[in-house]
Amino acid sequence: MSRVLYNATNQITQKYNAISHKGIDLVKEKNKVSDVMAHSEGIVVACKTGQVRNTNTTGDATYGNYVKLKHNNGMYTLYAHLKNVNVKKGEKVKQGDLLGEMGETGKAYGAHLHFEVRNEKDVRINPTPYIDADLPNNKEKISVLYQTYDSVKKKWLPNVENDSDYAGNLGNVVSGLTINLTQGSVTYRVHELNNKWLPIVKDREDYAGNLGKTIDGVQMQSDSCTLEYRVHLKGATWLSWVEKFDDTNDGYAGILGKEIDAVQIRVKK
Ligand SMILES: [Zn+2]
Repeated sequence: MSRVLYNATNQITQKYNAISHKGIDLVKEKNKVSDVMAHSEGIVVACKTGQVRNTNTTGDATYGNYVKLKHNNGMYTLYAHLKNVNVKKGEKVKQGDLLGEMGETGKAYGAHLHFEVRNEKDVRINPTPYIDADLPNNKEKISVLYQTYDSVKKKWLPNVENDSDYAGNLGNVVSGLTINLTQGSVTYRVHELNNKWLPIVKDREDYAGNLGKTIDGVQMQSDSCTLEYRVHLKGATWLSWVEKFDDTNDGYAGILGKEIDAVQIRVKK
């Protein structure tokens, strides 16, 4: 079954050519028209409607009515010459969602789908390997969001996403930590300075810590990805990244007895 034509088997009417035809032309078997579906999950980054057939046209107008999707891995697919368009710019689509109906708008000689695949730089590449296959590494990226409680300023600091920044104010000790993921869940706990590991917390159901009490150790793990995390020691430096959650020496981030003033977390690639 075709991945882009509804209830159809692909029939290629014109192949990809790196110079003269940077896409692939498809019709349903027996030269029939079909509805056009999203190749993969993504977001509509461009769509054009109201175009008519014009075989003398140039530039983007040669596409006629079209839809362009950006996928989770940064690549694009484009669906041209549509009779009509069923989606709007900014809309999120899943694989198999209806984008429009095959047509012959723009520079087209008969109804067909002109299908393109573009790389992360928006450069057209040969779509042939992807007609019946997933785009490479197209799983939705997981992000980790976290914040710490600054026990000097006595407030929660802004949320940090992945390792775009760190959570904490260097010099001010951390006494609370809260974490969640865009997919799956995370369990974590902190060690109270010169005391003990506090109870395990899941996602943002609670926070880990005793507000007002400094922490000297952090542990976390996720059911959907591997998290890498590290801490900064007050008046000192960042310690090594850790990815385990156990009783061994590298099963937590921190040095017991040394105050933590910042935390950084990222999803392992
Ligand atoms: Zn074409």
